Amino acid sequence: MSDAIRPQPGIMDIALYVSGESHVAGKTEILKLSSNENPHGPSDRAKAAFAGAAGNLHRYPNTDHGPLRRAIAGVHGLDPDRIICGVGSDEVLQFITQCYAGPGDEVITTRHGFSMYPILAHAAGALPVEVPETDRRVDVDAILAAVSDHTRLVFIANPANPTGTMLTEGELRRLIEGLPPYVLFVHDGAYTEFAEGFDGGAALVDAYPNVIMTRTFSKIYGLGGLRIGWGYAQREVIDVLNRVRQPFNLSQAQMEAAEAAVRDIDYTRWCQDENARWRDWLRNALVQMGVGCDESFANFLLARFDTADEAAACDAALKADGIIVRRTAGYHLPECLRITVGDEAACRRVVDVIGRFKGVR
Ligand SMILES: *Cc1c(COP(=O)(O)O)cnc(C)c1O
Repeated sequence: MSDAIRPQPGIMDIALYVSGESHVAGKTEILKLSSNENPHGPSDRAKAAFAGAAGNLHRYPNTDHGPLRRAIAGVHGLDPDRIICGVGSDEVLQFITQCYAGPGDEVITTRHGFSMYPILAHAAGALPVEVPETDRRVDVDAILAAVSDHTRLVFIANPANPTGTMLTEGELRRLIEGLPPYVLFVHDGAYTEFAEGFDGGAALVDAYPNVIMTRTFSKIYGLGGLRIGWGYAQREVIDVLNRVRQPFNLSQAQMEAAEAAVRDIDYTRWCQDENARWRDWLRNALVQMGVGCDESFANFLLARFDTADEAAACDAALKADGIIVRRTAGYHLPECLRITVGDEAACRRVVDVIGRFKGVR
């Protein structure tokens, strides 16, 4: 290969994203609990809207996402002019990084933070700076201590993935107020809906000029396969992001399915209740079997074993039963497994297998 053709700085530093596995060799009856998907799937109204869009596939989609932005704004009590929609929240996170970080800049991420953040930082030519967490929780002081003249962005997911832990509103305010005005704080709210009564950081966006919240249709709305997410920030920030957004980034089918999903408030509420109920049940069962487990504010639990070897052996036992969970060694948590909260039958199956593995069933 010719040396003359060289990728931009940072590109070759990217370690490819590893997604949740979905197959086990020799197994057909798979229970996939590795990607935090909604076990009940999307709202029937979302499916109908998606099917209904099939008649217009020859038409270009609307470029400003107006109807979807207004639906999101109406349901969440936000200003539709301060919302941007993307191909998953991943695309919104990409717009943010592309617009606000480049060569010579630093992007702060945390020890167990979502693996897309360093990928996006490198893709923009910026340097990801990883700071420690304390007992699997984001540490506000560690972030503030890492801020330099070169820092441009701070990324956290709250509730966090893969730990499931969450910062309080007081901690978030202390973090934001401690950041210099030239640093944009990115509050990734992919799991907002699973944290009872949480607004995902919308009030913080309204209160401070340097905060952006991202949200997704991939988790509670059960539309991970369709790729839709959104962000909410001050108007000036949204105007910047829209400059790098492709005009036709979302198809009409994506927008119409998402609009129907966000308007189906009863279904969303039911999914929240089911998740909370089985998350509590599963956590209690794990703890009773001697598996460590922090309180989770999301739709998964981080099961903590005594050693990395024990976690690997439990993963193998689950796989032998056709259950796929997520290994978290890549998140500096080799002794843990992240388990998506499934439906009742799924949770019972997981407890059965782990119980036999631990010799308590
Ligand atoms: C799942 C997830 C997302 C959502 O990504 P999409 O691109 O919207 O599917 C974002 N952030 C975190 C931390 C996640 O776990």
